[in-house]
Amino acid sequence: MKDKQDRREGIDATNKLFFTELDYSYAPSTEIPRFRVYTRRQIDEIPQLQKLPLSDRIAMKAIAAVFPFRVNNYVIDQLIDWSDIPNDPIYQLTFPQPDMLKIEDFQQMYTLVGNGASDKEIVSAAREIQQTLNPHPAGQMELNVPQYDGQPIWGLQHKYPETVLFFPAAGQTCHAYCTYCFRWAQFVGINELKFAAHEAEALTGYLREHKEVTDVLFTGGDPMVMKTKVLRRYIQKILDDSNLEHIQNIRIGTKAPAYWPYRFVDNKDADDLLRLFELVRMSGRQVAVMAHYSHPRELSTDVAKEALRRIRHTGATIRCQAPLIRHVNDDADVWAKMWQEQISLGAVPYYMFVERDTGARNYFEVPLIQALDIFNGAYRQISGLARTVRGPSMSATPGKVLVDGVKSIHGEKVFVLKFLQAREPQWVGKTFFAHYNPEAVWLDQLEPAFAKEEFFFEAELREMKAQAGNVPTKELVPELGED
Ligand code: SF4
Repeated sequence: MKDKQDRREGIDATNKLFFTELDYSYAPSTEIPRFRVYTRRQIDEIPQLQKLPLSDRIAMKAIAAVFPFRVNNYVIDQLIDWSDIPNDPIYQLTFPQPDMLKIEDFQQMYTLVGNGASDKEIVSAAREIQQTLNPHPAGQMELNVPQYDGQPIWGLQHKYPETVLFFPAAGQTCHAYCTYCFRWAQFVGINELKFAAHEAEALTGYLREHKEVTDVLFTGGDPMVMKTKVLRRYIQKILDDSNLEHIQNIRIGTKAPAYWPYRFVDNKDADDLLRLFELVRMSGRQVAVMAHYSHPRELSTDVAKEALRRIRHTGATIRCQAPLIRHVNDDADVWAKMWQEQISLGAVPYYMFVERDTGARNYFEVPLIQALDIFNGAYRQISGLARTVRGPSMSATPGKVLVDGVKSIHGEKVFVLKFLQAREPQWVGKTFFAHYNPEAVWLDQLEPAFAKEEFFFEAELREMKAQAGNVPTKELVPELGED
C-alpha cells in the first residue's frame, strides 16, 4: 500500500481521482476544550474578570451595549495575558474599552447600566449612539450588490470583476468579535443581512452568467462558524455545475485559525472540512484560506500551529491579513514577528490594512504616515519570502488604495498612492498623488496634489454611482471583503 502522502492525490485503477482517509492525528498536550462563548450577558461569569472592580465590569457592559461583544474560552484561557490587562493586545482586541466611546456617551451608558435600567432603555440609548458612528461607511452596497433575475441578491457582493463575495446566512457571526470590527453594525442588529432560502441557487445562477468571475470568497461574519455539511452544500453546487468551470479559486475569509483553531483540529466535522478542501483541490481548483491574524500571539499555541499544518496538508494555501490597529498591533516589531512566524508555519503574508472609517475608529485608528512607517519598519526586518505582503492599504469605495510612500515632487511634499485593486480594472496599478497630510487617517481626508481639482478616478466613480442609483437600497451593511 502506498503511503498516505502519495495516495492523497492519487489516481485509481479506473483512472479516477480518489478520495483518501486523512490521518492528521493530533495529540494535544491538554484536553480539547468545549467551545464556550461569553457575550455581554455573561460578563460576570468570566472568572478572570472577577478580580476587576465592579465599576470596570459596569463600564464593560456599558460599552458592550453599543458595540458587539463575544469572546470564547480559548481566547480567554490561552491568548490573553491577564497579568498585563488592560494593555494586553488580545484583551484590547476582544474586550470593550471605555475610551471606545466619547466621554459623554460613555457616561450616559454607564449611568444607565449602573442604575439597572431596563433593556429597552439601554438598547434605545445605544441605538442613538450607534447612528453617530457611521454604521454604513461609504454606503457602497448600492455599488456592490449584484442582481439576478432582476432582483438584488443581498447575500452577494461583486465589487471587483474577478471576485464575488458570498455571505452565507449561517456564517454571519464569529467565534469571537474584534473590538475594531468594521462589520460591527451587522452584529448589533442595525442591519441584519436578509437572505432568501434559495441563496445557493442565486449564487450559482449569478456565477453562470458571469464568466469573468474566477474567485468566490465565502465571508461573513466567519463562514467557519458553519458546520461543514452546510458549507459543503454551497461548495458542492459549484463543483457539480459544468457551467462553472471558470470558478478557479474558492476563498474562505476567516479568523477561526486565530480565535478557535480547534475548528480545524477537533472531531469529525474538522476532518470533514479538510476533506472538503481536498475535494475542491481535486476538482483542479485552489482553496485559499484568507486568515485574519492581528497579533503574533494568535500563532503561538500548539493548536494554532496544528490547525495551519492540517489546512496546508489538504493543498490549500493560507494568506494572512489584518488591519493595523492602535493598542493591538501598532508596532513594527509586532508585524515583523507575525510575518516571520507566518512564513515559518507555511502561510503567506498578504495584506496590512488601514483601520476602516466606522465604529470606534477614534480609539483604534493610526494616521496614514504612521501606518507607512510601521509597515516599512516591519518590512525591513523580514526575509524576501515574507515580502509578499502589501500595505498599508485602504479598502475604500473605488478600490484598494496603497499608501506607497512620501515624496517631494516639484517642491511639494506628497503621499504617493497606488491602486492595488479597483472597481475599474484600468485603474489597477495607477499611481496618484495627494498633499501630504500627517493627520489623515483615510482616503477621504486626502486632497489631490499639484493643483488638481479631484483624483483621476472621481468622475468615473460618480458615473458608476449614478448608474447604480436605480438599484433598490435597504439598510446597508458596511463595505466588506477583508476577512
Ligand atoms: S473583524 Fe472579522 S473576525 Fe473580527 S469580528 Fe469582524 S467579521 Fe468577525
